Amino acid sequence: MTRKKTDTIAVRTGIGTDTQHHAVVPPLYLSTNYRFPALGDVPTYDYARGGNPTRAQLEQALTDLEGGAGAVVTNCGMAAINLVLSLLNAGDKIVAPHDCYGGTYRLLESRAKQGIWQVKFVDQSDPDALASALAESPTLVLVETPSNPLLRVVDIADICQQAHQVGAWVVVDNTFLSPALQQPLALGADMVVHSTTKFINGHSDIVGGAVIAATSELAETLAWWGNCIGATGNAFDSYMTLRGLRTLGARVKQHQQNTQAVLAYLQTVPAVRQLYYPGLTTHPGHEIAARQQSGFGSMLSLELDTDSDGVARFIAGLSLFALAESLGGVESLVTHPGSMTHRAMSDAAQAEAGIAPTLLRFSIGLEDADDLIADLANAFAALAA
Ligand SMILES: *Cc1c(COP(=O)(O)O)cnc(C)c1O
Repeated sequence: MTRKKTDTIAVRTGIGTDTQHHAVVPPLYLSTNYRFPALGDVPTYDYARGGNPTRAQLEQALTDLEGGAGAVVTNCGMAAINLVLSLLNAGDKIVAPHDCYGGTYRLLESRAKQGIWQVKFVDQSDPDALASALAESPTLVLVETPSNPLLRVVDIADICQQAHQVGAWVVVDNTFLSPALQQPLALGADMVVHSTTKFINGHSDIVGGAVIAATSELAETLAWWGNCIGATGNAFDSYMTLRGLRTLGARVKQHQQNTQAVLAYLQTVPAVRQLYYPGLTTHPGHEIAARQQSGFGSMLSLELDTDSDGVARFIAGLSLFALAESLGGVESLVTHPGSMTHRAMSDAAQAEAGIAPTLLRFSIGLEDADDLIADLANAFAALAA
């Protein structure tokens, strides 16, 4: 059978598989434990930390969507990243992007301070910086593209090829695009991680994560560690995520359409000093993004031409865009990375990562684009006042 298209996989996952009552939508299994048919006869599921039928359904869906060999659904995105780090031994080296997700930065830096691993944060779009980091024979290369919050784009296939030459695994955080727009395993990555909290669930009502592995060997090792360290996701959140996942394709299309409308407006506003969006031909990563992504997504950042009081006036002038962390939900959001998602980074680290004090990140939701633009216009009027 030919591989189904992404939207079809997302909609159809698990549909019509219930053999007991022939429920169209697969049931939710909340039970902690499962009966052994007889002494020594271990059932497929025995205890929910190690395995649960609802979670398994989500794992299968994400495996199919990312084109992997297996997956582990975790209790949040950070648990997914932590699970990948369980594969490392003491003293191993990790190469991570200098502008990676704030929580990932905090985890890697804190573990490095404890002396557990050596972590090198590099600008992976700088070929010399990447080459010298790889020359130190890391075990793991973490890639995040587009990055948070500046939407920097790196060439996944190129990094995989270079990393594999030195024997390193490559794990790609695919949270910002979802498998609807980017499939890193097909580009050579060994693992993909997701915060399913974002686009995959898409409704801002759970936290969850996943690791999808390219080989069954890696998938089995990850599943073993997931049970060992207790990183696995719960059944109810898995059920919610499966429900959200079914509309992933439709949501992403509308997210992107609204983003195009908002961008066209923002390009006319003088108070926007700098726009960061990979779909703009002026974006330094535009060509790579056009090649390795099947869409430019619905995250954009901008620098306001103002001071911190102006940023506060602008944000107070918004009513549809909620000032909140997270992204990828149906609702539009605005984030101030400097004081919110990236506050764990020192001022110096923020400056080095290019996170200006007037930088704002937007997650464009599914409201009518005209209303979103009117909301932004109100905020720009408040900024000028
Ligand atoms: C949110 C996020 C994470 C962490 O996920 P949680 O579900 O919040 O633990 C990791 N990476 C990226 C890119 C994210 O946006």
